Amino acid sequence: MHIPNELAEIAPGVHAWLPDFPGTWGMANCTLVASDSGALLVDTPYTAALTEALTAAAHRVLPPSASISTVVNSHANGDHSYGNGLFPHAEIISTDANLAHLCAEPEPAQLQALLDQCRTDEPFDRYMLAHFGRYDYRRLRLAPPTRTFSGQLDLQVGSTSVELIEVGPAHTAGDLIVHLPDHGVVVAGDVLFIGDVPVHWAGPLSGVVAACQQILDLDPHVVVPGHGPLVGTAEVRRYMHYITELRERIHTLHTQGMDVESAASLLLHEYRRPDLGLSERLAVLTATEYRHLTPTTDPLHLVQILGAAVRLAPDCVPATVPSRDTLMAELESLI
Ligand SMILES: [Zn+2]
Repeated sequence: MHIPNELAEIAPGVHAWLPDFPGTWGMANCTLVASDSGALLVDTPYTAALTEALTAAAHRVLPPSASISTVVNSHANGDHSYGNGLFPHAEIISTDANLAHLCAEPEPAQLQALLDQCRTDEPFDRYMLAHFGRYDYRRLRLAPPTRTFSGQLDLQVGSTSVELIEVGPAHTAGDLIVHLPDHGVVVAGDVLFIGDVPVHWAGPLSGVVAACQQILDLDPHVVVPGHGPLVGTAEVRRYMHYITELRERIHTLHTQGMDVESAASLLLHEYRRPDLGLSERLAVLTATEYRHLTPTTDPLHLVQILGAAVRLAPDCVPATVPSRDTLMAELESLI
């Protein structure tokens, strides 16, 4: 587990912040597009302390006169947007659908309250503490997008062209990817997970595959996933194959009349891979696809869906968890 002190330059003037934190939730990648006059940041971290660490690293690569004047959120999940409030003077850009989807997201204070109430004798609470207990959400302020669009929005950062391309619904209702055509870079957000089983909340999974195809159509040299290390197009193709296979299996089980919980249990058995963490997310993927196969008017409730997934995969719950103070101190020592 490692949180970088410095950004990695992935193309001239393009820098990535890539926490190496597999097998858990919340540590997302961020990408900085720098210029002499200002900078654009794609996604903001999950806590104030992480955002401050990223900002300090960003200012070490930016000219003294430049500041982060634009923030882009690839989607509305908190691990890509909770840090927005630490950029009070920046324009915050995302899609119309991402702004609308914010109502399905817990606010930082709600997540803080939920974790404060977690009891170590409850399996789901232990799961939440193990994966989210290290994060301190207290100094965050919700800062929704101040500028939204549908389709595509083209921007200029110094001499660098930046294309924001809406690819949702896929991971969430309004995902966007960021294409830097001068550099052959695509920032994928959470339509692409590397190193852990992916989680997709909105779907359908065909939307995730289509979003990945849009990435391939741009023929990038480097792809920054939402989580995990940088990859090339071969890895994106492998991921598409994996999602396609899961989707076909879920459709077959649905056609056979299997209920969602039985289908999820079977997938947890069939598709568990030792090289990928967080296999319980297979149950979330099943639930997501079933919502499209058997349409429901129930609102999307992320914490409830995760709770059901954890119940179906009891071996993902640790027997004991350290206290929140210990978990937060551990994270702080890495920043
Ligand atoms: Zn994420």
